[in-house]
Amino acid sequence: METKYIFITGGVISSLGKGVVSASLGMLLKYRGYRVSILKLDPYLNIDPGTLNPYEHGECFVTKDGSETDMDLGHYERFLNQETTKENNITSGLIYKTVIDNERKGIYLGKTVQVIPHITDEIKRRIRILGDSKNYDLIITEIGGTVGDIEILPYIESVRQLKWELGEFNGLIIHLTLLPYNNATGEIKTKPTQHSVRNLMENGVQVDIIVCRTKNNISDKIRNKLSLFCNIKTNHVIESIDTKIIYDIPYLLHLQKFDQIVLKYLRLKNFNFLKKKNCHHLIEWTSFLKKYKNPKFKIKIALVGKYILLHDSYKSIIESLIHAGTKNNINIKIKWIYSDLINKENIESTFNHVSGILIAPGFGKRGIEGKILAAKYAREKKIPFLGICLGMQISAVEFARNVLGIKEADTCESNPNTNHPIINLMEKQKNIFYKGGTMRLGNWRCILLKGSKLFSIYGKKEILERHRHRYEFNNNYFNHFSKAGMKPVGLNPETGLVEALELKNHIFFIGVQYHPEYKSTIINPHPLFISFVLTSKNKKYKSL
Ligand code: GLN
Repeated sequence: METKYIFITGGVISSLGKGVVSASLGMLLKYRGYRVSILKLDPYLNIDPGTLNPYEHGECFVTKDGSETDMDLGHYERFLNQETTKENNITSGLIYKTVIDNERKGIYLGKTVQVIPHITDEIKRRIRILGDSKNYDLIITEIGGTVGDIEILPYIESVRQLKWELGEFNGLIIHLTLLPYNNATGEIKTKPTQHSVRNLMENGVQVDIIVCRTKNNISDKIRNKLSLFCNIKTNHVIESIDTKIIYDIPYLLHLQKFDQIVLKYLRLKNFNFLKKKNCHHLIEWTSFLKKYKNPKFKIKIALVGKYILLHDSYKSIIESLIHAGTKNNINIKIKWIYSDLINKENIESTFNHVSGILIAPGFGKRGIEGKILAAKYAREKKIPFLGICLGMQISAVEFARNVLGIKEADTCESNPNTNHPIINLMEKQKNIFYKGGTMRLGNWRCILLKGSKLFSIYGKKEILERHRHRYEFNNNYFNHFSKAGMKPVGLNPETGLVEALELKNHIFFIGVQYHPEYKSTIINPHPLFISFVLTSKNKKYKSL
């Protein structure tokens, strides 16, 4: 069948959960038997979000092919249980760079290069790459930002053109908007939505379905009003009510026939879920939600990082803990620890009630010493410990300083002149000066040592995990570490780079150079998180 396209725009305010609505729709359509991919358009001028502070747009998600992307791709992967690639995220930076490079190559020789048609053509070309691959029946395109932003205009124009070019029943426009509740009058207001729908109309785009983010259920009166003022059928007004857990959203949308309406509009067959081969995934999804809502155990895990004021900075880690915890009937409460504030005086009170300690990935010097204290505490008090990327590097520095007695041990990232660079800049990084897209990124192989804990966790010798780092464990210290009980148990076969460290005589002390959090989904919680969470629960160091 010919690929059909669904576009999702946002109105009134940002952060309404467009990513989750896109992922939910994608999941519902996938489980009806369609091959779906979701892509995200980001109207900022960075080529990718790799150089952004997480406080700007949340965590940077890394795809298997090594692309640094928007965190919404994490939602897509977790909901669809399907990996994305560099084609799934497009930024204005990327679009403009391509067009400007083309201009220099003489591709538009003789022409004035303009937003229309050159930028819009490039946007359309990129939107259609996945569709043209013939691997998908449906492409959902989420447009970042909010209708009315200056930056979004070329995208809205591209959507207008594409819908026209695709022809009847091949393109559909969904608008996610906010319906605020006015306390003074006690009513839900539709005016901001009317304005943003009208703004789209001024740009030639007629919305087909409105999804309303709301605190309270919406009445027929509201539906009728939106229908009348926005030119859409009343049953095309869908409510997206605030929920405690985002994984409830697909079902809540499905109850309003969201997926059926989309399929009907696109003249696609309304396959019954239960007749499709993915139907066991749906059953697993339902049982996940049931377990999530009725946990048998509760534990508290400390998450140490320096961007903790915005929890989205660690989105994939949070979700991985939820997936792994729920699978084992455990409700995990995260204790957020700001690494800059950890010191010798407060270390005991900070960690003495937690069942596990996780040191998060990160960059730069700030907060390093606090993280080293946290790793030391976990090692000495035998609290289950998981160090991810920078977290692993920290645990190595701590071990060198406090067990091997190398007082000056450090990571070159925070102390480039140290005499004991336990963590060193990778050889291949030494002549790299550009910051964007130049780290060791994406999938790399790792061979696990037989007999190690990690080997038994994965149940196999070779694994493939995603990476995002410039620094590495310095192999000059390999034997020294190994002999003292901190074993390099995972190695990249091509380069010999240490991918994982594991401490002997500890219930669970594992540091990984890679990012397991990018691969966890509801259907396939990550084995490393499962093991970490289970050990933390069983250890009952101190439960809630
Ligand atoms: N800053 C460290 C490095 O570049 C760790 C990166 C990370 O935690 N993702 O190697």
